[in-house]
Amino acid sequence: MVKVYYDSDASLDSLKRRTVAVIGYGSQGRAQALNMRDSGVEVIVGLRKEGSSWKAAEAEGFTVYPISEATKKGDIVHILIPDPVQPVVYQSEIRNHLVGRKALGFSHGFNVHFKQIVPPSDSDVIMVAPKSPGRRLRETFLAGFGVPALIAVEQDRSGKAREMALAISKALGCTRAGVLETTFKDETESDLIGEQTVLVGGLMELIKKGFETLVEAGYEPELAYFEACNEAKLIMDLIYERGLVGMLRAVSDTAKYGGLAVGPEVIDEHVKLNMKKVVGHVRSGKFAKDWVSKFDNSSTVLDHFMKELDRHQIEIVGRKIRRMAGLEK
Ligand code: NDP
Ligand code: MG
Repeated sequence: MVKVYYDSDASLDSLKRRTVAVIGYGSQGRAQALNMRDSGVEVIVGLRKEGSSWKAAEAEGFTVYPISEATKKGDIVHILIPDPVQPVVYQSEIRNHLVGRKALGFSHGFNVHFKQIVPPSDSDVIMVAPKSPGRRLRETFLAGFGVPALIAVEQDRSGKAREMALAISKALGCTRAGVLETTFKDETESDLIGEQTVLVGGLMELIKKGFETLVEAGYEPELAYFEACNEAKLIMDLIYERGLVGMLRAVSDTAKYGGLAVGPEVIDEHVKLNMKKVVGHVRSGKFAKDWVSKFDNSSTVLDHFMKELDRHQIEIVGRKIRRMAGLEK
């Protein structure tokens, strides 16, 4: 069983007389900086001068420095800018300023695990990854609770790296909910496999292909959208709240029988074989190599995919239905 840490397992002591330089003030950067500061931690923010978040961080009372300067001043350099830009920013603004036993922090393991960032061998390298978007991390903290998080230690030169990761988790409010220990490798791989096979890739393709199947069989696209997409949310809400069996208890017996008897014929062993291929590509680094090769023009690559999807009938009908439902203007 995985070890779970709570408030009483963590102490803020290892952050005393230390400065955390939070690099980035976006979704995670803002929430983590604010939560840590409210927990009494000394936090400074590192940003690029020309960016829009510099003013935002200043307006919320932080002392903001250029990234290289914040790196010099911080004892813990917590890198919270988008993953694809981290390697370049690390090379140009961070690496040469990591003198004297600084710790490096991340909220996702991709760049360290796939060696896009190779930290100095004498620094502690830790991960604290809250399992929610920044906004929710901040809201639950303000409500007196927290969101769960994962911690991991990649390099422990001080012998205190785990303590420090737990201290940051506590300052973020995450130990109130529970913190699980993992590794950079497992966090990175399971995140990629999950988002490709189920969350982003799998669900989206399932909905799209279900929609296409209905439309190609001659049903009205609007009807198809309700069946293949809209109702997916209702089912997912039930699964989220009650589990698979709980969801089945809430639907009709016909749906129950159809789902149980026919579902495995649709999402069959072949789909699972495809999923296992994904596991192979993630573990071998093939996926990472492909994605990293696109880092430099990632927005162009993504725009291309997004534009193509935007023209798909499911999006055209979807916009109409969402307007009808008052979800979109
Ligand atoms: P964001 O996209 O919200 O980060 C935006 C911030 O990064 C801004 O302050 C922006 O500054 C700065 N930034 C962007 N590009 C550059 C650049 N080229 N040079 C310097 N600064 C730059 O990132 P997230 O908060 O989403 O992600 C941060 C980390 O947290 C990632 O490792 C991610 O995987 C992880 N994570 C994210 C979660 C989420 O829900 N978002 C959940 C858990 C982990 P400017 O105003 O100057 O553009
Ligand atoms: Mg993910």
